[in-house]
Amino acid sequence: AYNFNAGPAAIPLEVLQQAQEQFVDYQGAGMSIMEMSHRSKLYEEVNASAQQLLKELLQIPDGYHVLLLQGGASTQFAMLPMNLLRPGRPAAYVQTGAWANKAIKEAKVIGETVIAASTESEQYMRMPSQSEIVIPDNASYLHLTSNETIGGTQFQQFPDCGSVPLIADMSSDILSRPLDVSQFGMIYAGAQKNLGPSGVTVVIVRDELIQDAPAHIPVMFRYATHAKSSSLYNTPPSFAVYMVKLVLEWIKSKGGVAALEQYNKEKTKLIYNAIDNSGGFYKGCADAGSRSVMNITFRMGSEELEKLFVKESEQEGFVGLKGHRDVGGLRASTYNAVPLESCKALVQFMADFQQRHG
Ligand code: PLP
Repeated sequence: AYNFNAGPAAIPLEVLQQAQEQFVDYQGAGMSIMEMSHRSKLYEEVNASAQQLLKELLQIPDGYHVLLLQGGASTQFAMLPMNLLRPGRPAAYVQTGAWANKAIKEAKVIGETVIAASTESEQYMRMPSQSEIVIPDNASYLHLTSNETIGGTQFQQFPDCGSVPLIADMSSDILSRPLDVSQFGMIYAGAQKNLGPSGVTVVIVRDELIQDAPAHIPVMFRYATHAKSSSLYNTPPSFAVYMVKLVLEWIKSKGGVAALEQYNKEKTKLIYNAIDNSGGFYKGCADAGSRSVMNITFRMGSEELEKLFVKESEQEGFVGLKGHRDVGGLRASTYNAVPLESCKALVQFMADFQQRHG
């Protein structure tokens, strides 16, 4: 299948084949990795190397913890303010779409929040610039969504927040491009787009931010609990962590995130060009300066035509091109594991479809 799903999304074929080979008998242990104790040496190696590979690929400086947690990015929407939002010091949020709004909703349950910038009045079709983002001096942190999976917008540059910690939900673009991690207090991401299967959530957090969480927070919801135990405080999602480790090895073998960035740009350029050169038959949703390299959103002249596009594409082996139910239209998610060949096939299909129905 040409898998353009938004998440769970494509996993590299080589990785799936490697997992298949090791599925029943992991490294001669006579059992699957998922049947093993999470305290066993073999699993501890998997856990440690997944963390180490993330550090290496993202060049995470000293002073940061890499945590492998459960509960998805949605749990981070709550866990973040629980741990970092302080009384009298509002949490500032950049409101850029559906996912930012979910993060804001959850933070409001915990404490005072302010909107530092919003593109709501423009239907969230762009990311705000540095000059539009107003951060209170005493903010506990500034939160943004680096890539809005539903709208198809992506920050091209991150704002300078001075001494206020910058926190980013990178669920749908982590490891798609090089990053200066030192710009961030914390980065989090559900795994099921660029990292592997659902079930594990990566949190990269600066040590000083997790040292004095309020006393009323349950042990399980404290970042410090998981940092102290190398993410083995309780039973981890061991099979998902193992798959993430294989995906990270695959990324390394491809030349790392800088090489993937070039590859991703090449893939999406093909599709954006197809949209832009269609004479208005396909219309890109996001503003040109905020276009995502992970989720390409576009529309056609009528909903009937869009439905037909989805139907015919499915008959041709394309999966996941229907836009999110909240916004409609069409969306091609081109995460790291989506091959260039799938994008070429999509561009060809778009041209053929236009010829038949344009
Ligand atoms: N944030 C973003 C940007 C997402 O795309 C998603 C899921 O698609 C989430 C958060 C929620 O992630 P989860 O389903 O892991 O809770």
